[in-house]
Amino acid sequence: MQTKYIVVLGSLLSGIGKGVITSSILKILDMYNIRAIPIKFDGYLNVDCGTMNPFRHGEVFVLDDGAEVDMDFGMYERFLNKDLDRDLSLTSGKIFSEIIEKERRGDYLGYDVQVVPHLIEFIKDKIRGIAKKREAEVVVIEVGGTVGDLENSYFIEAMRSLSTEEDTVFVVVTYVLKPHATGEQKTKPAQLGLRAVMSYGIKPSYVVCRSEDPLEGSTIEKISSFGSISKERVIDARDLETIYEMPLHLINQGFDKLLLKDICMEDRAIDKDKYNRWSSLVNSIKSSRDNVKIGIVGKYVTVKDAYISVKEALVHASAYLNIKPEIYWIDSESIEREGVEVLKDLHGIIVPGGFGARGTEGMIKSIEFSRLNKIPYLGLCLGMQLMCIEYARDVCNIKDATSEEFNPGAEHKIIVYLPTQRSIQKLGGTMRLGLYEAVIKDNSIAKDAYKREIIRERHRHRYELNNDYREILEKAGLKITGVSPDNKLVEIVEWSQSFGIGTQAHPELRSRLEKPSELFLRFLEEAYRYKQDKGAVR
Ligand code: GLN
Repeated sequence: MQTKYIVVLGSLLSGIGKGVITSSILKILDMYNIRAIPIKFDGYLNVDCGTMNPFRHGEVFVLDDGAEVDMDFGMYERFLNKDLDRDLSLTSGKIFSEIIEKERRGDYLGYDVQVVPHLIEFIKDKIRGIAKKREAEVVVIEVGGTVGDLENSYFIEAMRSLSTEEDTVFVVVTYVLKPHATGEQKTKPAQLGLRAVMSYGIKPSYVVCRSEDPLEGSTIEKISSFGSISKERVIDARDLETIYEMPLHLINQGFDKLLLKDICMEDRAIDKDKYNRWSSLVNSIKSSRDNVKIGIVGKYVTVKDAYISVKEALVHASAYLNIKPEIYWIDSESIEREGVEVLKDLHGIIVPGGFGARGTEGMIKSIEFSRLNKIPYLGLCLGMQLMCIEYARDVCNIKDATSEEFNPGAEHKIIVYLPTQRSIQKLGGTMRLGLYEAVIKDNSIAKDAYKREIIRERHRHRYELNNDYREILEKAGLKITGVSPDNKLVEIVEWSQSFGIGTQAHPELRSRLEKPSELFLRFLEEAYRYKQDKGAVR
């Protein structure tokens, strides 16, 4: 079997949804039961995303194997409903460190190691190796950044070179602007972007045009003429009500048929069940009847992508419940300054993951407000740790309860770094990363949600609930309903008086449109119930 390659390049602007287009292509291939895998290249010199700040880079995504990867992997998994692994993520840092290792080992003995041919050949070999190992029929390679960036230029050259040896299709994602002043679409920037692509010796097979509105006829004509491609290869990728609609929108334009012809797979037929299932989920998101107001209280709320998995997990749950989550992004520091007033009309509150002390007092106040007013609460990782601290302070009367992360010298550290963790750690320094099992107790929100005893969720954290405080908290009414199989680590805690659950894991990282997170489903359902009850009281 000869693997085919589809290379997705960004032109003109970053952050316009190249990841959604790549994911949609993967989903379309999956609907045709074609074995396709993604590879993402990122130009930065970090070996992985572990140390990146969400303020600058958006969310750090974690895979089952503990790899800390670019958030686009989250998008691929949410569309594909498949577990990906660390080998599919290539960064400049990873590539260069492997090349240098080879050089030190003497693999290039006698040669000066150069970008051409050594680096270029190394990349092509690597990609072919990944494809072979997984028996991929198609590899969809997303190149991070935009064409013209210095840092991805050698990678693009490798893709051009690959295209001379393998069946390769280039998909260029660009943006068509519509300035208010003109009121019509302008293609000049997109044309200049295409010129840059062509200057690399690459001829696009498709130009996917992101835009606010449907593409105008003259836009299609200009892009087709400038890109030297037929009009049917200029693809409309306007803003849609939900990103999950994009594969259907592309199929409606006949993109699937053309693409399959390009990769010599036109004999393959669409799997009607898969297609229908996806469209009915998309329809259900679009037709959700009733709103619930969900507040997400964090410190990175001004960055749209910092909590993208949390937001998407709510969308997935909504597709099954027919409830529309209206998300309120609440800056935890503003709660510290201005109080909890902004929380009072919410039907559910989430405190997501995070690092460092900044903003945590505002999160603790929000948790307290939610507990005292019986507003459904979901705590994710840091949100679980703070739930324990809030309970210790307010119910157990340990007023200075805190976490070792915020104050290493404190007397009452409810959350601590457990040195025993050192021995079972996977890659990544001192963090507990990747998939871990937990055992769930009966008569709990967790059991009610997961409906099974053993669960597996992804983790990314350093600190744990201090076992010295387990009994004190439990006696005061905080239920411990999930623990590690050896009972050494607390995984899930719950309030006993109202719906409140905190998990040390990140269930949002495993939530997909076709397999929503059980906890998010339960939480959203509860938020809706809370809204109805509240309405009834009034
Ligand atoms: N900062 C906390 C820890 O390291 C929580 C991490 C998180 O929320 N991902 O344990």
